[in-house]
Amino acid sequence: MPKRLLPEERQKRLEGWKLWQAERIQKKRKSKSKRDWRDAILNHLGRKCINCGRIEFLELHHIVPLKDDGEHTISNICVLCIICHKKAHKREFLTDDDE
Ligand SMILES: [Zn+2]
Ligand SMILES: [Zn+2]
Repeated sequence: MPKRLLPEERQKRLEGWKLWQAERIQKKRKSKSKRDWRDAILNHLGRKCINCGRIEFLELHHIVPLKDDGEHTISNICVLCIICHKKAHKREFLTDDDE
């Protein structure tokens, strides 16, 4: 006797699949793309603070602030550790809007 899915069972599976898809797309849009982008930049520029050479707690800093028409591109970004990044913003020789 061939195995057949009941209509309700089929519907349930379809709903589950849709949910899974939606979740996957949302995750991709939110955190993953940002993290991948950050990783790509770090790989390209080097995982090291350009000011003190620290290799942990790294952050990306916009050389020309986005609010001053700075571009969100690799040529306008440098790698700073969290400490130097804070200093940079405090001294305001380099300022931007990133978190
Ligand atoms: Zn540093
Ligand atoms: Zn910054």
